[in-house]
Amino acid sequence: MTTLLTTSDVATIVARYGPRKVFTDLLDYVLADFLRWQEFDKCARVASHSPAGVIELMPAADSELYSFKFVNGHPDNPQTGLSTVMAFGALAQVSTGEPLLISELTLTTALRTAVTSALAARALARPGSRSMALIGNGAQAEFQALAFHYVLGIDVLHVYDVDADATRKLQANLAAVAPTLRVVAFDGTAQAVKGVDIVTTVTADKAYATILTADMVEPGMHFNALGGDCPGKTELHADVLRRGAVFVEYEPQTRIEGDLQQMPADFPVTELWRVLTGQAAGRRSAEDVTIFDSVGFALEDFSALRWLRDSAVRFGIGARIEVAPRLQDPKNLFDVVRAATDVKAAPGQP
Ligand code: NAD
Repeated sequence: MTTLLTTSDVATIVARYGPRKVFTDLLDYVLADFLRWQEFDKCARVASHSPAGVIELMPAADSELYSFKFVNGHPDNPQTGLSTVMAFGALAQVSTGEPLLISELTLTTALRTAVTSALAARALARPGSRSMALIGNGAQAEFQALAFHYVLGIDVLHVYDVDADATRKLQANLAAVAPTLRVVAFDGTAQAVKGVDIVTTVTADKAYATILTADMVEPGMHFNALGGDCPGKTELHADVLRRGAVFVEYEPQTRIEGDLQQMPADFPVTELWRVLTGQAAGRRSAEDVTIFDSVGFALEDFSALRWLRDSAVRFGIGARIEVAPRLQDPKNLFDVVRAATDVKAAPGQP
């Protein structure tokens, strides 16, 4: 049997952990997998583009478990009542192929993206960072704010969105769950990023957008750039990338999808796992500028699905469903059809 987790199941798991532990616990899963990077089968995700957005498949596997995520990115979706990003996925046993878990991954994507951002910032941002600007206050925003609050100790947040309602929503949600986080709204990106330690960009627009320009870069800043994650969809002016050291998840994918798509093929980048394992340097001085050009990598979803599977057991959450048949004779698949036909044709039925 396979465990099924709906969005409300995952929300219950989040509530059971509580706002701090949910991020620290999931972060440990993501970190553990980044530290054993070499053990994974990896590939860039498979993308299907349309004028309105993209649909992607993201597989990853080690010798025991296989996972995939289906995810979309449609920036105009909120105008019709749908989320920009929606996702689901599965975890299966490599030795048999049996599906162990099928789960929603929309809420989970926000969680795993936030902990990956925090993990990168913990390794790359200036030690003692306390302030962050959050540009783009949509669905991902609360998760980013809370992960940085709980994992890095960010206690001042400058927020800006072209949609003032999105900013008001973010402020109300954060006031309810993290009252010690000081949230200040600004009228523009340039004003919001002035003087902060970390800048997170998490906007959605299927365009070569220029959210950040080089004149906004200050010595020592760390950039956590999330919204440039698809060909033709960027957030950073190319000069911002030239101002610092660029770190990526999986280089072959980020070269196609990240803000890095604007740069020549030999533009130097470092994969994050190499910093986390101590094989490459991160920041070298307090004045260095570091840039995490994040696009979201399948390994993070693999980790999140492992965490969900363990959390479902821990809290007794999720339905057991028959996705793959359990047959008395595995070669007699037709028996399930016969059984259903027999029920339909029970006595008294035509
Ligand atoms: P969303 O549509 O809910 O929110 C995006 C927000 O950006 C909206 O409120 C919009 O008004 C705002 N915005 C658009 N242009 C802006 C601008 N020029 N200045 C300021 N704000 C602007 O989307 P979401 O689910 O929060 O996702 C945000 C982005 O993050 C998307 O581009 C998505 O593809 C990306 N994303 C990346 C990862 C990753 O792993 N790197 C994971 C999830 C989502």
